[in-house]
Amino acid sequence: MAGTITTRFMIISDTHGFQFGDAEKVRGAFKQPLPKVDVLLHCGDLTERGGLKAYKDVIKMLSCIDAELKLVIAGNHDLSLDGAYWYNKGCDPDDPEDYAEHEQGIEIMKGQLAKEAGVTYLEEGLHTFTLTSGAKCTVYASPYQPEFCGWAFPYERDEDRFNLPHQSAPLVKNIAVNPVPDFPGIDIMMTHGPPRDILDWVASPPGATVGCNALLRAVSRARPLLHCFGHIHEAYGATTVIWKDDKKKIGADAIEDLSPQPSVYPDSLDWPIKFGRETLMVNAAIMDLNYKPRNSPWLVDLELPRAA
Ligand code: 5GP
Ligand code: MN
Ligand code: MN
Repeated sequence: MAGTITTRFMIISDTHGFQFGDAEKVRGAFKQPLPKVDVLLHCGDLTERGGLKAYKDVIKMLSCIDAELKLVIAGNHDLSLDGAYWYNKGCDPDDPEDYAEHEQGIEIMKGQLAKEAGVTYLEEGLHTFTLTSGAKCTVYASPYQPEFCGWAFPYERDEDRFNLPHQSAPLVKNIAVNPVPDFPGIDIMMTHGPPRDILDWVASPPGATVGCNALLRAVSRARPLLHCFGHIHEAYGATTVIWKDDKKKIGADAIEDLSPQPSVYPDSLDWPIKFGRETLMVNAAIMDLNYKPRNSPWLVDLELPRAA
């Protein structure tokens, strides 16, 4: 495609403390050798419950993957990376070591150790990167998901974190501090949780779908090339959303069709995404429901714009 640069992505999520070497013990699907890619995306739940050693171990695991850019967000299990959660209910305020874990955890994820491993830890919002190939990539990232069992990075189901007030559904409380821009503002969305009714079905209660309505509204406005997430381990998979021509349609109304994509790892998905017309949705949870690393990474080639 003229004016674009083909860029190879590897997408993973929900590794929950996994280290290479563990996979073989359970005949897992996430194991070395992993292919070299341009960009690695990790969609959160890096650890089991946070902790400084656990964050260092995540950096160690990510250092084993060969990618020019490694973009990482947190998830609900990475407790102390959420300052609001940590100071309000996560830590013991009378234990100085515990209290300090948020700042020290962020330092591990963003400091020298992360730099040496090529890791870029993303907080919620917009981030733009230029690769050595000249490809430019604008990413919207968010570790937040609907409240479930009192973990970190929560919002309530009747709250909208992702849209401007006039774009929210009726009777919903808008709490967005970093709303998702309209098409063509972003190339990639990385969230910990899935949008509503897309790779979000749960084992319990059986067949229920638990993805976020406000997030579906936001992704339907933004129409990125790729929206990747994890969180719902049992809904691992990929599907291409084909959007309606009318960009005024929002949420489920904006979807014309869905085309499920089987995993072809270690090959790359063979479906060239049409920007503005399609979004590849990927639930990349490596761990299954029993926290065993049974799922493969996803490899995707995307056409990114050339930096000016
Ligand atoms: P995690 O604890 O790793 O964030 O999520 C693990 C599992 O908890 C998911 O695979 C899913 O089965 C369940 N889970 C997470 N969030 C929700 C939710 O909002 N509703 C329901 N019913 N289950 C959830
Ligand atoms: Mn998880
Ligand atoms: Mn999770």
